[in-house]
Amino acid sequence: MGTGGLYIYTGPIIAFFFSALYFGVWTHRRERLYILLLSLSFFCFMLAALSQMLSIPRDSGLNAVVSAVIYTLCISLLAKGVALRFHEPRRDRLTVIVAVAVVVLSAYFYYVDRSLILRIYVQNFGYGIIVIAVALRMQGRRRGLDLAFFWVLLLFGLHFFVRTVLTAPILGDLARYDHLVAAGADPEELRRAFAASPFWQVMNFSVFISGLLIALMLFVAVALDVIEDFRRDSGSDTLTGLLNRRGFHLEAEAVWRDAGMRPVSIAYGDLDHFKAINDTFGHAAGDRVLKQFAEILSGELRHWDVASRFGGEEFVLLLPRASGEAALAIVERVRRALRDAVFDDLSDGRAVTVSFGIAEAGPTETPAEVIHRADVMVYAAKRSGRDRSVLDPQVPQP
Ligand code: GH3
Ligand code: MG
Ligand code: MG
Repeated sequence: MGTGGLYIYTGPIIAFFFSALYFGVWTHRRERLYILLLSLSFFCFMLAALSQMLSIPRDSGLNAVVSAVIYTLCISLLAKGVALRFHEPRRDRLTVIVAVAVVVLSAYFYYVDRSLILRIYVQNFGYGIIVIAVALRMQGRRRGLDLAFFWVLLLFGLHFFVRTVLTAPILGDLARYDHLVAAGADPEELRRAFAASPFWQVMNFSVFISGLLIALMLFVAVALDVIEDFRRDSGSDTLTGLLNRRGFHLEAEAVWRDAGMRPVSIAYGDLDHFKAINDTFGHAAGDRVLKQFAEILSGELRHWDVASRFGGEEFVLLLPRASGEAALAIVERVRRALRDAVFDDLSDGRAVTVSFGIAEAGPTETPAEVIHRADVMVYAAKRSGRDRSVLDPQVPQP
């Protein structure tokens, strides 16, 4: 398809731009695999488009198969990347089955039963199915960016059907493209006619627009994730506003360096039967319980105490200038306040309780060692019935 001037390279160039952009972000965030998949997907789009535009490989059958394989890879990588980012990752057999079918049928309709029009239908319908399936699996996550992305994906998926059905029949003579070639028509001339056909023009335009829209929306998703990562790395817990693990350790180091803060104790709190709260009232209600517990902590602790959320429903408190006994008294105040709190979300009126383990730091112990002893005491509290605080009677001496 050598006609059309330089502007036809806009698509591949923009695809390359996004591929490079995502790749650059991924090298800094290697744990976010979906960003790499998106980068590869856009790279494949560029390769497939160039393969068609520059007729590489030259043989038109081989070209049809090679570009079908790369486009299919492109759509499959996009589907997998979106799945990783937007829903629970699980095995996606449908994508694999449809992708293989598209490649096999594209080859079949060239080498066995030559038909350009059927190749067009197979590829477009196959890609439509893959994209729509991914969109529909975004069930239940339809707010904000997720909602917008759901609609963009759904329309992108549907457009493969609508556009193809509307424009492919207008190919007219070109529907017999392969036969015309076989009958001795000049392939170069036919190719130019194909490039000028409404099918090809509309397809390039719509794929360009929707591809750009998807790339931009995914970029917003990537940016949000990167911001979230920075925030997490930077020490505070986004849900509760308490410190996170990293923030806690920085505070603990500072307290450890200050002899005036001794004795120092650490309390480890784990909410009781929290999974049941999630299971009964939903994850969002569970999140609000976690927030309310964080408020209780802030209300009951002394102003120099440090509260952190270590993850999930586990909270670690740093209590400077408190012996184990004094820490026990503070923590018991928190425990009772939680038990007496009313949670609007929990419509059966159930109380939320917490089990605490407490350990006073020995003179040569590290924060991690004290946290570990407090954690062991949590298990003792759980074993003896929950909703209680257990103090480690030992303070290790050097
Ligand atoms: P136990 O009394 O033995 O501690 O029981 P449990 O159900 O609290 O214990 P488990 O550790 O098995 O369950 C913790 C649950 O906390 C599992 C998970 O669904 C939930 N969870 C973890 N992180 C979050 C979160 O950020 N938000 C919400 N809503 N739930 C969370
Ligand atoms: Mg737990
Ligand atoms: Mg728990």
